[in-house]
Amino acid sequence: MAIKVGIVGYGNLGKGVQQAIAQNPDFELVAIFTRREPDQLASLQGEEVKFEHISAADAYIGVIDVMIMCGGSATDLPEQTPVMARMFNTVDSFDKHAKIPEFFDAVDAAARENGKVSVISTGWDPGLFSLNRLLAQSILPEGTDYTFWGKGVSQGHSDAIRRVPGVKGGVQYTIPVQEVIERIRSGETPELATREKHLRECYVVAEEGANQEEIRAAIVSMPNYFSDYDTTVNFISEEELRKEHGEMPHGGFVIRSGITGQGKRQIIEFGLKLDSNPEFTASVLVAYARAVVRMSREGLKGAKTVFDVPFSYLSPKSAEELRRDLL
Ligand code: NDP
Repeated sequence: MAIKVGIVGYGNLGKGVQQAIAQNPDFELVAIFTRREPDQLASLQGEEVKFEHISAADAYIGVIDVMIMCGGSATDLPEQTPVMARMFNTVDSFDKHAKIPEFFDAVDAAARENGKVSVISTGWDPGLFSLNRLLAQSILPEGTDYTFWGKGVSQGHSDAIRRVPGVKGGVQYTIPVQEVIERIRSGETPELATREKHLRECYVVAEEGANQEEIRAAIVSMPNYFSDYDTTVNFISEEELRKEHGEMPHGGFVIRSGITGQGKRQIIEFGLKLDSNPEFTASVLVAYARAVVRMSREGLKGAKTVFDVPFSYLSPKSAEELRRDLL
């Protein structure tokens, strides 16, 4: 029997989940829940998918096996996941690193009280990167961790440049410093300042008559976002921004360089190169949605993280089939 799934929130991630479900025949999309006018979204998307207002979700208790939470991490998920976890099993990609313990507690209380399972903070970082750091640290207790992001669009930094006076539009790419990665791959374990690991590259559309030098100075000196990095600012036209910078690529590497025995160097590396950050994150969410349903059927309850989910639960294959795949 297919896993019945609902999507909460129809932005980049929500659309990505809809597409990912189409690639996984063991899932059936029941409805997409939104805070906007559902009929309006339905008229844009055609007949084949059902849109509901988020307030109508309770009518689906007992029908939907798992809700895939696709709201933003800043304000949507802290509010929406605990509400949904009272009624449904859930999975989300909450990525405000410092707030994860607080978020876990709120979701855990809601899910536990109602016998549901909620896997929080899946995706790639947190998510697949977290898993790989844990794996590498467990295998190589003596070692150094490195995480590099990019090349990719950082939503937070792009928003920050768009708030600078005189800026009409813009996008920011985070770029790992290649030479440093090569040094680590060849066995060095340097201590790196923030500035040495990543560059920030901005493409900005200025408002007519705005002073480009003032904009550049405001961006590169912005605390918390740019002041700790080497930042370049390129001014481009609106058309160029739309044509050349409309995609959402991302990726990165997690590397642990460690020592075993008498000093033998061992390097573990995991890397991602993503044409579309939201489509990839959505695919991770769908795999974890499968695990959530399995854990729920086994009688588990409460909030979990990627660390608590057996790898085999992500796969549609049976344990017997997976054993044949070991070699
Ligand atoms: P979006 O801004 O595209 O969507 C967020 C919400 O905004 C949607 O759920 C939707 O809610 C609403 N929305 C979307 N489009 C519109 C619109 N045109 N008008 C009005 N409202 C709209 O965010 P993303 O989908 O790109 O990302 C969601 C979160 O995923 C991010 O905040 C990020 O934290 C997380 N993420 C995590 C990753 C990880 O590795 N862990 C990686 C990538 C992202 P509604 O339908 O209810 O209106």
